[in-house]
Amino acid sequence: MFDLVVRGGTLVTANAQRRTDLAVVGGRIEALIPPGEATTSVQEVDATNKLILPGLIDAHVHIPGYLLSGSFDDFGSATAAAAVGGVTTIMLMPTDEPRVATAEYFERKRQIGETQSFVDFAIQALIGPKTGSAQLAEMAAAGAISFELFLAYGGNPDFIVGHDDFELARLLRLVKDAGGVAGVTPHSPSLISKLTALQKRGDATPRESDPASHHVDPVQAFAATRPTLSEGLGIARACTAAAETGTRVHLRALSSQKSVDLVRRLRDCVPLSSEVMSHHLLFTDEDASRFGPYGIIVPPIRNKSERDSLRTALRTGEIDMVVSDHSPVLREDKEQGWSDIWRTPPGMPGLQTLCASMLALVEEGALSLRDLARTCAERPAACFGLYPRKGLLQPGSDADFIILDPTQPTLIEDSQQLSKAGYTTLKGRTISSRIDAVYLRGNPIADCGRVVGAPRGRFVRP
Ligand SMILES: [Zn+2]
Repeated sequence: MFDLVVRGGTLVTANAQRRTDLAVVGGRIEALIPPGEATTSVQEVDATNKLILPGLIDAHVHIPGYLLSGSFDDFGSATAAAAVGGVTTIMLMPTDEPRVATAEYFERKRQIGETQSFVDFAIQALIGPKTGSAQLAEMAAAGAISFELFLAYGGNPDFIVGHDDFELARLLRLVKDAGGVAGVTPHSPSLISKLTALQKRGDATPRESDPASHHVDPVQAFAATRPTLSEGLGIARACTAAAETGTRVHLRALSSQKSVDLVRRLRDCVPLSSEVMSHHLLFTDEDASRFGPYGIIVPPIRNKSERDSLRTALRTGEIDMVVSDHSPVLREDKEQGWSDIWRTPPGMPGLQTLCASMLALVEEGALSLRDLARTCAERPAACFGLYPRKGLLQPGSDADFIILDPTQPTLIEDSQQLSKAGYTTLKGRTISSRIDAVYLRGNPIADCGRVVGAPRGRFVRP
């Protein structure tokens, strides 16, 4: 006797797409059954003519109001957005205040999540020049899914490794000793700060595409402060240090062909994985300029040729996974950027539209549905130690899945967005399918854009 049988659907996994009925017991997949075979179950769901995808795993999410929600996204709003969008497991970056740099804050975040989260969640630990070996070991024991270090980033300088190679090597060695994965946000702080000063003074060269004009598009002026060189320098430096220490590295937010080329070569020396944001796969610099302050993210959205090379690298497996980097900057903060782009906090919401973005890419022919299952479920689970419990549709795995109706179009609108940011750069886009239902460990958590039931998300650890 099964708890649940999903009948008539077509299962989409990284390797195959085939008609299979799915049986669930105790929140896990118990069996994959040939279509139509008789079974007994407490509940049956008819998924005839529908697709069953694994629940997505987003390895890069920010919830800025997780402790003191106020107007910022908290666990409730961010994970409601995740649930209706088909994301069933999130990994939480440690940069939201209070930063998760100690076991005490780690524990607080876990406890809040366990009462408020609609989806399963893992927690990433922040490490920097002030992190001691005992502190890191405590966060490892608490279940940190990764240890995040920042070569360049705004905010509190206490947590930035910057150009300090001694600290970079020391931290990578500690992560290696803890048996963990080092999440590395690359880039060059000196390059960014000097280019930013130049751009703010207006000394910068006008866009190459418009050499006759002295008008510099403010979004592109911002983009010029984070060139591909900055990304490449950070990647090369972090991987060179990791090759010495033997530490597993996960590279955050690749945005260019040059980064992909570097990573391809560095794989020979370092055990590494990498990600790309859905925004960099979907949009070009022209879109970003049109979005104005809403198009400001880091790394910046680059040109069509870079976008296409990222799509290719994802398809071929050179980039492991797609993330949303959900950064739900409030509309009022984005709006300030229309008069002064430098006042715009970088970032875009993206949890609710991660799956939709991928489906848009499938419709364009840039990816297949199997690529979606691989890069948004299987690989993130595998790279962060959640495999095979998460990321798969096979017996023994958690019954986290999406029921997708390929015949019903969805028009994406701001009014549907459950993140407190309340907007999306996919506004006005129609995708040709609809997320009908989302299940977490065998329980429905979303139904056609609405959250179902109480928060039942659990903390997950490697
Ligand atoms: Zn981020």
